[in-house]
Amino acid sequence: MKTVDTYNFKNLCALIRVDFNVPLDKQTFEVKDDTRILGALRTINKVLQDGGSVILMSHLGRPKGGPEEKYSLMHLVSTISKALNKPVKFVNDCIGEEVKQAASSLKPGEVLLLENLRFHAEEEKGDEAFAKQLAELGDLFVNDAFGTAHRAHASTAIIAKFFPAEKKMFGLLMASELENADKAIHEPAKPFTAIIGGAKVSDKILIIERLLGRADNIIIGGGMAYTFFKAMGGNIGNSLCEEDRLDNAIQLIKKAEEKKVNILLPADSITASSFSNDATRGKCASMSISTGNMGLDIGPKAIEDFRAVILQSKTILWNGPMGVFEFSNFQTGTKAVAEAVAEATLKGAYSLVGGGDSVSAINKYNLADKVSYVSTGGGALLEYFEGKELPGVAAIMKK
Ligand code: AMP
Repeated sequence: MKTVDTYNFKNLCALIRVDFNVPLDKQTFEVKDDTRILGALRTINKVLQDGGSVILMSHLGRPKGGPEEKYSLMHLVSTISKALNKPVKFVNDCIGEEVKQAASSLKPGEVLLLENLRFHAEEEKGDEAFAKQLAELGDLFVNDAFGTAHRAHASTAIIAKFFPAEKKMFGLLMASELENADKAIHEPAKPFTAIIGGAKVSDKILIIERLLGRADNIIIGGGMAYTFFKAMGGNIGNSLCEEDRLDNAIQLIKKAEEKKVNILLPADSITASSFSNDATRGKCASMSISTGNMGLDIGPKAIEDFRAVILQSKTILWNGPMGVFEFSNFQTGTKAVAEAVAEATLKGAYSLVGGGDSVSAINKYNLADKVSYVSTGGGALLEYFEGKELPGVAAIMKK
C-alpha cells in the first residue's frame, strides 16, 4: 500500500483529504470530540517534517449545497492549530481565486485549511470540473479520510484522476484503518465473535450476512434484537421493531443454522414504561415484554451469556450499542460488553471497535486504549466488511 511514508515531500504541497466531520457545540461551535483531528496528525506531521506544506480539505455536517455558519470549518482552526502546535491558515472557500492565491503562497512547514467542501453541491455529485479545481491546488493528493471512503465524491475519489499514480497515496490513518479491518476480515484468529447492536436491523443486514461466512458467534443486541424476537413469535410490547424486516430476520437465523454460526440474542431485557431515563424500569425475558413496555437494555442473564462468549474469543468486532446507553439507567449492558471486550483484549484477543455509537460508548467508559483498534469510520467500515469496494480506496489504487 502506497502511503506518505514512502515519499519525500520536501518543497512540495500535499493536498490532504481528511475527515474532520467532528461534533460541534450547538451554541459555541466548539469542537466537542477531537478524535478525528488527532487521527490525522501523523500524516500531516510527516509532510511538514519532510519540509513540505499542507492543504487540508474536509466536509463537516450536511449543509444544503451553500455556506451555513454552523458548518464552517473555521470553527476547527484553533483545535487543529493546538493539536499541531503551529498556526493554521484558513480561507473562506475551497475553490476560486482567493484560494489559489493562498495555496500558491504557502511556504514549507505551513498549513492551510479550506472551507467546507460541501458548501458546493458539486462535491457530493462527484463533479469533475470541481474536482479538477481542487486538484490544481496541490502537487500531490493524499487521502486520509477513511470515514468518507465509501463515498464517490469529488474530493474523495474523482480528484485522484488528476494525479499520476506516483502522486497520489494514502495517509497513515487510512492505512491503519484498512490494515486493521483486513485483520478482522481476512485472517481472524478463531473463535471470531461479532457484536452487532444499535437501533436498526435494516442498517446491519448486509454486514450480518457477510459475517455468517466468517464469524463463529454473532451477538445481536440493542433495539434491533426486538425485530428478531417479534419474528420468532415473541411479545415485544412497544420495543423498537421494523415490521418490514421480519422476514429478513428469520432468513438470517435460518442461514446461521445452516452455516453453524452461533447467533446469540439477549435472553432478558431491562424494560421501560416510556422512552425516558426516568421511566419505570422492569426486567423480563426478551420474548415476553408486556404491552406498554419497551426493552431499552439487555438484562443480567444476557450480559452473563454475552460475556462468556466474548471472553473465549480470539477476534472481536463490535459495532453498535446494546441499549440506549445515552440514558444512565439503561447503559449497564453496553458498559458490560465494553468491559468484556477490554478484558478479552487483555487476555490476547484482537478487538476492533467501529461505528459512531460504539466508539462513543468505548470512550465514555474510558476503555479506548484497552481495545486493539478504534476505527474512525462508521459507514465506511461497515461497507468494507460487507465486501463493497470503497471508491476512496479504489481511486488511489488505480493507475
Ligand atoms: P445505530 O446508529 O443503528 O448503531 O443505533 C445507535 C442508537 O441505537 C443509539 O442512539 C441507541 O440509543 C439506540 N438504541 C440501542 N438500543 C436501543 C433500544 N433497545 N431501543 C431504542 N433505541 C436503542
